[in-house]
Amino acid sequence: MEISEANMDSFGIEVILPEEGKTAPRCPHGPTLLFEKVDNGGNKGRRFYACSACRDRKDCGFFQWEDEKVSKARMLAREAEMLSKRPRFTQQECCSRFVQFASLPFIEKKFCEDCQILLLPAEHSAHSAHRTTAVTAAQLRRPSILLCPLDNKKSNAQYLFTDRSAHFLLDTLVGLGYKKVLCVGTPRLQELIKLRNLEPMKSLLLDIDFRYAQFYSQDEFCHYNMFNHHFFGGEASRAVLDAFLTEADGEQVVMVADPPFGGLVKPLANSFSLISQTWKKLRNSGDSNIDIPIIWIFPYFFEPRILECLPALTMLDYQAALQKQRPQLQVDYDNHPLYKHGKTGRRQSPVRLFTNILPKQVVLPREEGYRFCSMCQRYVCSLNKHCTKCNLCPSKDGREWKHCSACGKCVKPSWSHCTSCGRCALPDHPCRQGDGGNGCFSCGSLEHQRKACPLRDMRRKNSLGPKAKSLGKKASPYLAKPGAKKKSGVANRAKKRAANAL
Ligand code: SAH
Ligand code: ZN
Ligand code: ZN
Ligand code: ZN
Ligand code: ZN
Repeated sequence: MEISEANMDSFGIEVILPEEGKTAPRCPHGPTLLFEKVDNGGNKGRRFYACSACRDRKDCGFFQWEDEKVSKARMLAREAEMLSKRPRFTQQECCSRFVQFASLPFIEKKFCEDCQILLLPAEHSAHSAHRTTAVTAAQLRRPSILLCPLDNKKSNAQYLFTDRSAHFLLDTLVGLGYKKVLCVGTPRLQELIKLRNLEPMKSLLLDIDFRYAQFYSQDEFCHYNMFNHHFFGGEASRAVLDAFLTEADGEQVVMVADPPFGGLVKPLANSFSLISQTWKKLRNSGDSNIDIPIIWIFPYFFEPRILECLPALTMLDYQAALQKQRPQLQVDYDNHPLYKHGKTGRRQSPVRLFTNILPKQVVLPREEGYRFCSMCQRYVCSLNKHCTKCNLCPSKDGREWKHCSACGKCVKPSWSHCTSCGRCALPDHPCRQGDGGNGCFSCGSLEHQRKACPLRDMRRKNSLGPKAKSLGKKASPYLAKPGAKKKSGVANRAKKRAANAL
């Protein structure tokens, strides 16, 4: 059982954001998060701390009851584990190694596939039994292709933008006049900014994947956990962010975040708000209502959850396309069932941009099937027809939705109104079970069962997210057993909201 956004609702677990002055115990990923289980009567259960970054307990097994006394021996064991998980080089070492590496003749430029590090000549013999590859100057500038994707670990599964989406994002930012891009979990965007040599555009990558430290200077990369706003490099690293967020001579900053899709929305939103607060403080403009411009990339079905946490964001229709790392090893996705080219010839993707930038300023490409809706004052998918009754372009998934007068809103084309449920649903929905039924175990939607979940499909076929893991095989020591699954009032309400919004 993993603590993912979807499962949280199903199991009635909530994150309690850290209160000021209260320190959470630490795991190798920084301060842990406090969780609370709420039972179906809405009663609050015992609180516990668990890792902020790893949703799979296999990756980080940290667990501690809030009121638990931890023995000295366990503390020591934890310390030892933290030390053992420290990267093999410090960031400073990485930087000087990079300088040395870059000046090597081609014949001596080697990368160890097994260790995922650039090798200096003196180290070649120690890695002679490992798989090593030669590194060209071009490859050195494209670490996202050189490094192998972290997808076995669901905690930081890496799904890179296709070139088309990355260029679209960057062109949009350039067009809007931004001069500094804070890349939170977007290594490919950072890479592209440097590749395209868009002087004077600067970028700073914040990512938990320390392998990237090998390719960037200390003011271009911070080892960072976006679920608890933790800087592994401490104050020095924080100062790098502060310096970056300081806007001199109209160097406007924008932040682009692409968190792992199973990630918990609330702690992410909290970290992004903290970044915005820092930006505000450094800006000194006195207008505390203005937030840092942000683009948060996440699947559309999390819209209600994201808006609940950050109401200033709007979801755009743009479908961001992602691919697995190493495009040269990619098979063509054209025959892929999920990637059927629709009428627009564009591949369907559930991934959207959530932003506080004025939607009409984000011009979506006409050749990819987007148009401008003058009523909504934003670019929409061409199939997203404006509904005069709802007074908006209602579609969330790129298909043409239809208005239901009984529900008083637009619904998915596959739905029809069910008089016994009093709402629109799929024709074969579990009738009148809306409240007590299971809905989707994976994403929390009531509209489908887990088997039919688009998120699960996406994970399985396209690996856009962590691999779907069957629930129930391994019961966690602290989460309800799947058999005993009961949803709390809170969880039910959240589910209903999610279902209604989709
Ligand atoms: N589409 C992006 C990559 C997104 S994959 C691009 O093309 O650039 C998610 C990214 O978030 C990865 O780079 C991963 O290393 C990073 N990540 C995962 N968990 C994280 C965490 N807890 N804190 C910071 N970064 C994290
Ligand atoms: Zn419209
Ligand atoms: Zn309508
Ligand atoms: Zn029904
Ligand atoms: Zn689902």
